[in-house]
Amino acid sequence: DASPTTPSPPPDAPSRDDELGPPLVELHGVNKHFGDLHVLRDIDLTVRRGEVLVVIGPSGSGKSTLCRAINRLETIDTGTIAIDGQPLPEEGKELARLRADVGMVFQSFNLFAHKTILDNVTLGPVKVRRTRSAEAKKEALALLDRVGIGNQADKMPAQLSGGQQQRVAIARALAMHPKVMLFDEPTSALDPEMINEVLDVMVALAKEGMTMIVVTHEMGFARKAAHRVVFMADGQIVEEAPPEEFFTNPKSHRAQDFLSKIL
Ligand code: ADP
Ligand code: MG
Repeated sequence: DASPTTPSPPPDAPSRDDELGPPLVELHGVNKHFGDLHVLRDIDLTVRRGEVLVVIGPSGSGKSTLCRAINRLETIDTGTIAIDGQPLPEEGKELARLRADVGMVFQSFNLFAHKTILDNVTLGPVKVRRTRSAEAKKEALALLDRVGIGNQADKMPAQLSGGQQQRVAIARALAMHPKVMLFDEPTSALDPEMINEVLDVMVALAKEGMTMIVVTHEMGFARKAAHRVVFMADGQIVEEAPPEEFFTNPKSHRAQDFLSKIL
């Protein structure tokens, strides 16, 4: 029997992109002005299901406006934004429903100061998703456990550290079962020793396959979790590449200049 004795060469390692699903967030020709200021310029961007996209760029380049536009906290002048194939409507009930598909975590934790940690997490599901209170509570406790705050559920936000509050904010967003999570500089208001406890939760979420758009300058996070880095300057997407390639070999002068300042 002439069975081959030399093993066949191993198949090419699959590219990480092969893990990704169909387009989930799609922006086409998006423009936005604040008065004379052209803040988003012809933005075309597609984020696929399961993809982790890091958005990086100088202050004022439009990163927050981009996030807010995707969540319709900000209107756009021209172009389209669709979530899971559904164009975002201007307003109304349909908008509320689609917006609930997009979880958002801000730089400032934005917890309700006069509600307990548990109530902060259950409020959205009960009010918007019409989840029964007992069920919302059970899930909230599980989510708080997952972000390492399980034993703080009855405390008030001010009794928690910044890192803990930001982890509650993540649990609160997850409680809505979003299709995509947006993070706008989630660690930049934190004391340095609390940054990793938040990034660790985000890395875990990424590994579980959550679709994420993350504005951050934390290169460690980008290298560990991102499929792709998008570099913005002056409202434009100037460059995009896998993290390793972007950080070691940025192509544009703007990106080289920016990286030389933050590295
Ligand atoms: P980034 O998050 O990259 O720092 P932003 O999206 O916050 O950038 O802001 C982009 C530009 O738009 C900045 O010049 C900022 O001053 C301006 N801007 C943001 N929000 C508003 C607003 N509500 N009204 C007027 N100008 C704004
Ligand atoms: Mg910003």
